[in-house]
Amino acid sequence: MGKKPTPTVMDKLVSLTKRRGFIFQSSEIYGGINSCYDYGPLGVEMKKNIKELWWKSMVYERDDIEGIDASILMHPRVWEASGHVEGFTDPLVDCKKCKMRWRADQIDVSKGCPNCGGELTEPRMFNLMFKTFMGPVEDQAHVVYLRPETAQGIYVNFHNVREASRQKVPFGIAQIGKAFRNEITPGNFIFRTREFEQMEMQFFVKPGTDEEWFQYWKEKRMAWYERLGIRKEKLRFHQHGEDELAHYAKAAFDIEYEFPFGWSEIEGIHNRTDFDLKRHQEYSGKDLRYFDQEAGEKYLPYVIETSTGVDRLMLTALVDAYTEEPDRVVLRLKPQIAPIKAAVFPLVKRDGMPEIAHQITDSLRKDFKVFYDESGSVGRRYRRQDEAGTPYCITVDSQTLEDGTVTVRERDSMEQIRLSKDKVLEFLKEKLDK
Ligand code: ATP
Repeated sequence: MGKKPTPTVMDKLVSLTKRRGFIFQSSEIYGGINSCYDYGPLGVEMKKNIKELWWKSMVYERDDIEGIDASILMHPRVWEASGHVEGFTDPLVDCKKCKMRWRADQIDVSKGCPNCGGELTEPRMFNLMFKTFMGPVEDQAHVVYLRPETAQGIYVNFHNVREASRQKVPFGIAQIGKAFRNEITPGNFIFRTREFEQMEMQFFVKPGTDEEWFQYWKEKRMAWYERLGIRKEKLRFHQHGEDELAHYAKAAFDIEYEFPFGWSEIEGIHNRTDFDLKRHQEYSGKDLRYFDQEAGEKYLPYVIETSTGVDRLMLTALVDAYTEEPDRVVLRLKPQIAPIKAAVFPLVKRDGMPEIAHQITDSLRKDFKVFYDESGSVGRRYRRQDEAGTPYCITVDSQTLEDGTVTVRERDSMEQIRLSKDKVLEFLKEKLDK
């Protein structure tokens, strides 16, 4: 009998996220669809928490950034102006022998196919935008695209937002939304998919101040990962060389994380200059310049962009939190992004303990996602919550019946303290506010 290969960390994480209801393969009963994933009950909570954390730091905690939610389908001219129709392409090569498909810029083509060494075809440029038709007629005049980035919805609304919110340059516009790219080689679970969600912020500045602002956002964004609970030593910057720069960028830095499959980009910080506004001005025929009252001049602002993916950050947080200990697997997620904040258990299903546990659960529900569980031994219930990343477990036991205190067990240290049952809400609020 052949030996089963040892599962990798990624294999184990994929299986945990399915088992616990974080992430499922899309359309699984039909055999799945390549690179599409569905977020289950815990996944959707965690995703929401990550988005909230980003939105708070970008929109709520400052007064120079406004939010927006633009539509996915846009006027097709947008994508001509942005350069995506012409330039949003990757070089595609096929192996003539094993038929595997590669991105020529990600492999050493002189060595042949990375899978079998076979001969590769000449690279063909492949546009990554998904195309569809608006209305019942399927012809060239009715082509629309699924947006490959959310940024363009911000540029075309620059003046709408500015006027409505009475902002002055420098200011930014933030957006969270779906984006689609017909990637040649999706993979590494939810790292690279064809449908994903982006969190992008475009900061409009006076030309000449762009390098300063670029520096500012580079530092600000790196510091944000601490709030997400990511280990510092697993993060680094990667500066784009001339050959890597996107068609719109003057300078670009990636924030990279060290995944089990190597250092990879999780966020891009770009100096997009006035490329996008200038092109939209040209293609739309509208004056998109900003009148700077203080300077008494009109100019097209430069844009510093910060762009990251929710799904990719979800993978980052899961990988970073995944810990195997001798007798348990635990997701050491930062409590702020953990899907369930507290689980409440009655030690046994009698003596009035379930009633008290239900009361406690109900008292927490309005503020937090909580979970009531009375099945199996307390040890097993703890293990289940450890795997789900739940930071606190609250147990009602016989002492509760005597003095009204409960046990609060902390996930990472497994330390237990006793607390009055009436103090649990306050305790959680304090812990989760950090
Ligand atoms: P690559 O060169 O790796 O294809 P890119 O440099 O084109 O990526 P950006 O356009 O800078 O990527 O995208 C900004 C962010 O959006 C990325 O840092 C990532 O978090 C997210 N992102 C981009 N493409 C995908 C994808 N296919 N799946 C999931 N997230 C993605």
